[in-house]
Amino acid sequence: MLSKCSNCGSSMEYDPEKKKLVCPNCKSEAEEIVVKDRTENTCPECGAPLENADKRVTYRCPYCHNWIILENKLEGPYSVKKIMPFTMGRKKAMGNMKTAFDNIPFMPNDFISSEREKDLKGVYVPFFVYDVEAKGEYKYTGEMLNSWDTGNTTYTKHDVYDIDRPYSGVVSAPIDASDEINDDIVDALAPFDNGDMEEFDPKYLPGFEMHIFDKDPDSEEYKKRAIDWADVTVQDALEGSVTGFTGIGISSKQGDLNIKEHAYTYRPLYVYDYKYGKKSYQVYLNGTNDRVSGIAPIDKKKLTAHYIFEIVCAIIGAVSSVQIFALLI
Ligand SMILES: [Zn+2]
Ligand SMILES: [Zn+2]
Repeated sequence: MLSKCSNCGSSMEYDPEKKKLVCPNCKSEAEEIVVKDRTENTCPECGAPLENADKRVTYRCPYCHNWIILENKLEGPYSVKKIMPFTMGRKKAMGNMKTAFDNIPFMPNDFISSEREKDLKGVYVPFFVYDVEAKGEYKYTGEMLNSWDTGNTTYTKHDVYDIDRPYSGVVSAPIDASDEINDDIVDALAPFDNGDMEEFDPKYLPGFEMHIFDKDPDSEEYKKRAIDWADVTVQDALEGSVTGFTGIGISSKQGDLNIKEHAYTYRPLYVYDYKYGKKSYQVYLNGTNDRVSGIAPIDKKKLTAHYIFEIVCAIIGAVSSVQIFALLI
């Protein structure tokens, strides 16, 4: 399926801030996708073969640059009910990235710049959201240390408390299901607000890449990540409820974490891939809020210049003190 501008015939793209399809050529707007069907494995506009489109739901034809939706990737096991549409454009996303990296020294000058906005690639990433039933109990030891002086004597009081924290509930564990996405970087983008989820509509897709899942939702790898996610979530929540002590430690934990069901959803990320030397640095940006996660390269010339400057300052300082010393003599 192909989204076409009814005015000029260009490929429409979804505008996250207008929440409409917008023609990048004539700026016409549309509420719904206008469909032009395609024949198998060819671009419906120019007839070019679709290459390397196995893992893609959306595909930008490298010849005519039209966004094509491969509707067969949305059927059967790939059927998707919910999507979290992008709510911010590239300009705002680049602003969030600038803020996030504001205090990082020695970055290359062009790592963050308005010219780089076009390099932010919007990607709908497949996530399996597992409902993990959690039931059990943590026991903590809480310590309170108080000390006070009376006369010349210092007294210390050391109280030890046993704290029980039973728990029971369901943890929602979102696990990204694309091998192309770095799990550690994407996990740091959480939380996504599930209130931003919408009923799936293909109008959200043109202008963004969309990948299908790489492994089955029943794969041991994804299930283990969901259990680990739930385990950390429970532990963080319980630990956050044990307050007012000078020290706490876990004395015992017992319980069960069981996956009940999962949902297939899509979440929006801007992916920024920056090549520096022989290495590639990736930054991911949440497409609905200001969370940013990634690694910045260090410009070695800037780093060297900084230390040369510091050494020069140190030498100047040393010379000054030698001069002062000489004057005093
Ligand atoms: Zn147009
Ligand atoms: Zn084409």
